[in-house]
Amino acid sequence: MSAAYWRGSIALAEATSSHQGHWLFTSRFGGVSDAPFDDWNLAAHVGDDGAAVLTNRRRVAELAGVNVEDVVFMRQCHSADVEVVESGVGEVQSVDGLVTATPDLVVVALSADCVPVSMVDVQAGVVAAVHSGWQGMVAGVVDTALVAMQDLGAARERIRVSLGPAICGPCYPVPPERARIAAQAAPASAATSPDGQPAIDVRAGLAAQLRAAGIVVEYVGGCTAEDPQLFSYRRDGETGRQGVAVWWNR
Ligand SMILES: [Zn+2]
Repeated sequence: MSAAYWRGSIALAEATSSHQGHWLFTSRFGGVSDAPFDDWNLAAHVGDDGAAVLTNRRRVAELAGVNVEDVVFMRQCHSADVEVVESGVGEVQSVDGLVTATPDLVVVALSADCVPVSMVDVQAGVVAAVHSGWQGMVAGVVDTALVAMQDLGAARERIRVSLGPAICGPCYPVPPERARIAAQAAPASAATSPDGQPAIDVRAGLAAQLRAAGIVVEYVGGCTAEDPQLFSYRRDGETGRQGVAVWWNR
């Protein structure tokens, strides 16, 4: 068994402030849900038992050192819409990115093949959690989040982005027209499955878009479809969701 989660911190290099940024990518294991959501499912919309989901969400809050009321989730819809949150509001409807400048307010994005994205400007004290599949990549949801972060005082050259576990290109064959649309938006997303079908590598596409804008990007975790320790919708169909939690504090 590898780690049940990945976590990282970004400390401000300057001595004038003690800001710290934090991200936490969860995996499939470490929670209480029964099959087929076993067992650290964080999604309330997939048919899992509500009490189990709440227990699983509390584990995220504990790891972040906050109350579960200070963890904000969203009902994602493959859009380019993001919302700025200032306090614990439970679950925000119909967005794919949450942005906050409030210390110790944890924003979460969920996924099971799509890319969970952590964005942190530790100096400004502005963070975002974003969900992006191929549609979000085409629609530019990460860029929308960047702009929202800048509106709160973040600077592009300071933003650090971590792209979490997601389905890789070879595991994600799609109809040719979809691959064409994705490649038009992000040429680096073009991939091929082992049997020669057109495929999409969303993580590579997002990384290239961000790096072209001068933003530092890292990968965390591997391919959801290949790693049995991660939820994969494409592999399993009815299943749970892992996620990324992002926050900052002093
Ligand atoms: Zn793969």
